[in-house]
Amino acid sequence: FLSKNLVYKNMKHVYYLSTSSIFGHPGSHDAYYNYFLNLPFPKNKIFATYVWIDASGINLRSKDRILDKEPCDLEMVPKWSYDGSSTGQSDLKDSDITLLPVAVYRDPFRKSPHIIVLCETYSSEGLPTPTNHRVSSAITLSKICDQEPWFGIEQEYTMFDRDHWPLGWPKPRGYPDQDSKNSYCGVGEHVAGREIAECHARACIYSGMDYDGSNAEVMNGSWEFQVGPTLGIKAADDIWIGRYLLNRIAEHFDVIISFHPKPMGDGHAGIGCHHNFSTKKMRADQGVTEIKRICKILCDQHEKIIKSYDLKDGEDNKKRLVGKFETSSYDSCRVGISDRSASIRIQKKVISEGKGYFEDRRPAGNCDPYMVCGVIAKTCI
Ligand code: ADP
Ligand code: MN
Ligand code: MN
Ligand code: MN
Ligand code: MN
Repeated sequence: FLSKNLVYKNMKHVYYLSTSSIFGHPGSHDAYYNYFLNLPFPKNKIFATYVWIDASGINLRSKDRILDKEPCDLEMVPKWSYDGSSTGQSDLKDSDITLLPVAVYRDPFRKSPHIIVLCETYSSEGLPTPTNHRVSSAITLSKICDQEPWFGIEQEYTMFDRDHWPLGWPKPRGYPDQDSKNSYCGVGEHVAGREIAECHARACIYSGMDYDGSNAEVMNGSWEFQVGPTLGIKAADDIWIGRYLLNRIAEHFDVIISFHPKPMGDGHAGIGCHHNFSTKKMRADQGVTEIKRICKILCDQHEKIIKSYDLKDGEDNKKRLVGKFETSSYDSCRVGISDRSASIRIQKKVISEGKGYFEDRRPAGNCDPYMVCGVIAKTCI
């Protein structure tokens, strides 16, 4: 293909002339892209995509390097660094931020043996950067290791078109029926973006995340995926990688992903990130007593902990926790049985069986799951 068509400087011509064989319709970028993806690739070259949280505390960054063999444990994945002055994380004159690999996933875009490497970030003094909340969370979790803490996290999100209007909403800038109860777990005309959710599901499972499921959400254009139940810090790691994969897949569909807790204002549903939690004791007979004890502590500390449940010390979440759209009030905490207007929900099944887990419904879509898991785990110490 290349030798035959290289004479054509204008790439459009190249596409047009090569539609006959393996290449798609004229102008198909996918076909051209696939040609390169299918080039023979040396066995001793492994793509490693290093992923980290930037200064925003919600946006992710990534860059690639080539390793000469597939790492079989974390120690084999080299530390790396990046220019923190370009991410708002350091001074120009002291710009190196260290990337410390903490978890490895299979790369669903390039497939095995290529990998995605989740990293913590450290300043030149060796201190965690301000948005590296994983360190303290991991320390807290290690203290309750013998209690076998399991987390299950539900990440909601909204898909926006390139015109910054939600997918599936009438154009230009029209509104869906606000009282419609058709979108949650909906099908057909009531939902948009299923292809993205499907690609995401498969990418997550392939990657090695404990992906648990997905559903369309209350507001058209918004969806949710769940991870867990997962032991320790991995649940939060998986949410961050899940967020990363979602953004990468959305690039391909020309869609923008948002985790904002109240993206379309008062009249429309918010975007949350419910955290489900259990310990060995809660999962054993009569565990419900322990569940209620921990829920009470989480409520008693409401004023303090609600500040760590969103990106902006509670300011974003205030717009979401208004008592409407299956939310509780921002100002108070209430534990409820099977109650989706409660701050913390215990399922009916948990009461009848006397064991199981509880759901903290307060965390916002843009929370840092490391912070939330850390807060919840602390109540067990
Ligand atoms: P809902 O939307 O009704 O709140 P979902 O099905 O979306 O519920 O989410 C349930 C979450 O609870 C999942 O993330 C799942 O992994 C998690 N989960 C299930 N069992 C446990 C458990 N024993 N401990 C902690 N989390 C759990
Ligand atoms: Mn450079
Ligand atoms: Mn859910
Ligand atoms: Mn939900
Ligand atoms: Mn939930």
